[in-house]
Amino acid sequence: MYVLIINTGSSSVKFTMFKKDGLKVMADGIVERIGQKGTKISTKTTEGKRTSREIQVANTRQAVRLIADFLTNINDSNIQPGMDIAGIGHRVVHGGEKINRPVLIDDRIKQIIKSFFELAPLHNPSNLEGIEACEDIFPGVPQVAVFDTAFHKTIPQHAYLYGLPYLLYKEDKLRRYGFQGTSHQYVSRTAADFLNRPMDELKIVSCHLGSGCSITAVDGGRSIDTSMGFTPLEGLMMGTRCGDIDPAIVFYLMEHKQLDPRQINELLNKQSGLLGLAGIGSNDMRDIFQACEKGNCQADMAVKVFTYRIKKYIGAYTFALGGIDAVVFTAGIGENSPSIRELVCQGLKNMGIIIDPQKNATATKTCREIQSEESPVKVLVIPTDEEREIALQTLELLYEER
Ligand code: ADP
Repeated sequence: MYVLIINTGSSSVKFTMFKKDGLKVMADGIVERIGQKGTKISTKTTEGKRTSREIQVANTRQAVRLIADFLTNINDSNIQPGMDIAGIGHRVVHGGEKINRPVLIDDRIKQIIKSFFELAPLHNPSNLEGIEACEDIFPGVPQVAVFDTAFHKTIPQHAYLYGLPYLLYKEDKLRRYGFQGTSHQYVSRTAADFLNRPMDELKIVSCHLGSGCSITAVDGGRSIDTSMGFTPLEGLMMGTRCGDIDPAIVFYLMEHKQLDPRQINELLNKQSGLLGLAGIGSNDMRDIFQACEKGNCQADMAVKVFTYRIKKYIGAYTFALGGIDAVVFTAGIGENSPSIRELVCQGLKNMGIIIDPQKNATATKTCREIQSEESPVKVLVIPTDEEREIALQTLELLYEER
């Protein structure tokens, strides 16, 4: 039997099919550029067979249908033809204050997902579309929603409230929610396994550094604070998002640059961060490093801003946790860039964080420690795997709690 994970984005649907026992990946892939020119489906199976073809796909529903067709007609000797799917796990971005765990999807849950359309306009609508498509295509198969916000449900009120009139929290639910929770949960769980220590006695700062970036303070397996807030815009500087800024900058942009809310939203979410600051027309850290190597001072400064912010948050969360056992680096930049890890950890000897240059430079795709012998704090690189975490949580809900 298999468990299928569906991750719908604003213009893509990713899927991973795991074998239920042992969670071996049997097939995965992505439908990209949905509703745009050049929609493409790319797939991979256990035998390593890869396919990629362009095809017209207008919406998420059609993309899920395409994935179902691929899975039904899969040509791989390790996978039995026909689909014997035990459960489907969906990544859903926003569950607000109502949801703190994976849930079996029914009409009430769909209503809750709908009620957060306004707070996650790029994700929750396509998440729901993916769920409804699966209900049609795989009737009778139990479906589970795993929410990005759920892991952060344990953040205490003093950390999630903003210094705004309390009524805005009571009536409009303006508060910190936090995102990327599935990744932070996966890497902190994996860190405990890797260190062979019980989760409930570990204090971890988890740094997810990809296109989107966030840091979470994890105390005994529970998120107690995180850098993303009401939306994913707050916190670290990211690929194209600005992260923390003085909110008064918004009024300045309105008054002096005559920008309307839509333009400001675009500026802060899509034109800022590494893209805006480095000014090389790319937000990819590899391109930015190439520019640095050619002597581009602006690119160099963008890297410094990026890493300084991370360092500042690690410091803040070390204090919030009252000391830490481990710092974890994950996602595209966190897993693959020794230079970023080195810059972040530079000068933290007095905080007990010392990395070993040689271990840091070793590139592998597995979990590893990169701290030096004398470092009291462990520094870990852990490849994130949100799909596996969703699969684990889906199976836990379907099979262990019944
Ligand atoms: P997402 O899933 O949010 O799109 P990823 O976790 O895949 O993001 O991270 C994407 C980012 O990882 C890219 O923008 C790129 O900057 C960075 N990245 C990937 N490989 C490397 C590398 N070898 N060195 C530095 N940065 C890298």
